[in-house]
Amino acid sequence: MTATATLASRTADLLRSLGAAPLEADGDGPATRSPVTGETLGHLPTTVSAADAVTAAAAAFTEWSSVPAPVRGAVVRELGELLREHKSALGELVSIEAGKIVSEGLGEVQEMIDICDFGVGLSRQLHGATIATERPGHRMMEQWHPLGVVAVITAFNFPVAVWSWNTVLALVAGDTVVWKPSEKTPVTAIAVQALADEAARRAGVDLPVTQLVLGEREAGEALVDDPRVALVSATGSTRMGREVAPRVAARFGRVLLELGGNNAAIVCPSADLDLTVRGIVFSAVGTAGQRCTSLRRAIVHESVADELVDRLAAAYATLPIGSPLDPDTLVGPLIDEDAYTAFAAALDEARADGGVVVTGGERVDGPGGSAGGVYVRPAVVRMPSQTAVMRRETFGPILYVVTYTDLGDAIAVHNDVPQGLSSSIFTTNLREAERFLSPSGSDCGIANVNIGPSGAEIGGAFGGEKETGGGRESGSDAWKAYMRRTTNTVNYSSELPLAQGVTFG
Ligand code: NAD
Repeated sequence: MTATATLASRTADLLRSLGAAPLEADGDGPATRSPVTGETLGHLPTTVSAADAVTAAAAAFTEWSSVPAPVRGAVVRELGELLREHKSALGELVSIEAGKIVSEGLGEVQEMIDICDFGVGLSRQLHGATIATERPGHRMMEQWHPLGVVAVITAFNFPVAVWSWNTVLALVAGDTVVWKPSEKTPVTAIAVQALADEAARRAGVDLPVTQLVLGEREAGEALVDDPRVALVSATGSTRMGREVAPRVAARFGRVLLELGGNNAAIVCPSADLDLTVRGIVFSAVGTAGQRCTSLRRAIVHESVADELVDRLAAAYATLPIGSPLDPDTLVGPLIDEDAYTAFAAALDEARADGGVVVTGGERVDGPGGSAGGVYVRPAVVRMPSQTAVMRRETFGPILYVVTYTDLGDAIAVHNDVPQGLSSSIFTTNLREAERFLSPSGSDCGIANVNIGPSGAEIGGAFGGEKETGGGRESGSDAWKAYMRRTTNTVNYSSELPLAQGVTFG
């Protein structure tokens, strides 16, 4: 049996165990592949069209939005239970389809479970404010009502967690969801949709509260342009967001954008270098540099730069690269050949700018041999300054290192990129840490101290500024994006006083 046959049959077994039909070995639908070996897993089934899914979702919304929120939470509770039960199967499928190492595939499913826990609690905590009014005998308050149909468009690199961040909050909020996953990761989407259908069934909900639309970007565009979609929550490249935002704005819809990042760490003279090296390596090479929060730029004080780079080079030299399904692997594949082209082009550009590749950058054979998946050695590149290549997001494991002498300059370099997702500072100096977190510090949506930029927990709001799109998902009060606010004034007196001292008649 070839490695491909093994992966294809394993995928079929996993889909069955998750309650979904296996892919067809020879079908009319498009073939889908695994980045582990680069070969076909099977052919995709046909799903409902975007337009038909929105029709069904809009009809379901009228009923679903009237179900009390704590009752809506029951679907999310069932989903969380199913995910607990099927964590290892779904995690393995994430590894097969997205190329994440086993631990990260499982971690992604754990994140889904965590947001379900959060959502169940939230279903009893959708709260509005009561606000003092200037008029006697009056009361003013805010309520949060269900919004409508939510389109969730997702990227390949978090093929299941991002759906859950959106869908759990949307369901609790009383919305219905239509999901267009990445064309590179449809299999995990099929599995998750099967779990979501089962969760609804167990909760006694006989409505299409979540639906799946498979397809290329045209399917996403159909959702973007559909006036019946109240909110388009889109995760992916800044290029995609640049196309989506004006189209949704033209019809006065809402967007929630989670786009590219170009995340940096500032390493100060007082940094604990043992901890810093560990934090940097996890953030820069984890998921083979294909996280939106991957560390791409290190801005290092000149007094510690040589030692840090030497230690990083030593750590990089020992990184196990290979099949993400092997429990010893730490660096799995790039998603496809295009990702390798972008990786190699960025390294060439960095060299042309005077950069020196200290370690890595080579292509290596994966488990499928040279014709199989795309595997590279993560690279560390010392740059003379922050040139154009550093200001772009290249979705692969390249860490650029520049030096600084003054923290103010380091923060200026840090912020001098178009993206604004995540950031960190490594220091044991309280003043430096607080300055980085202050309004004149990092301009990102996420700013950390003594941990890398990756590793979000669902309790906090997730998202970033500038070309990252400005959206916030997951914890804190991100749920408000999925609801509409009404401000209510109630007069319980027998007078009719007007506000602002206005008299009328
Ligand atoms: P991508 O932009 O190529 O595709 C993302 C999704 O958008 C896919 O489902 C795709 O079909 C769809 N799409 C593309 N163009 C569209 C259009 N014009 N209209 C509607 N839908 C369209 O991104 P990718 O390569 O899958 O993912 C990598 C990118 O995603 C990186 O830039 C990464 O930083 C970003 N990302 C961001 C976050 C975040 O939370 N900020 C999370 C994960 C990934």
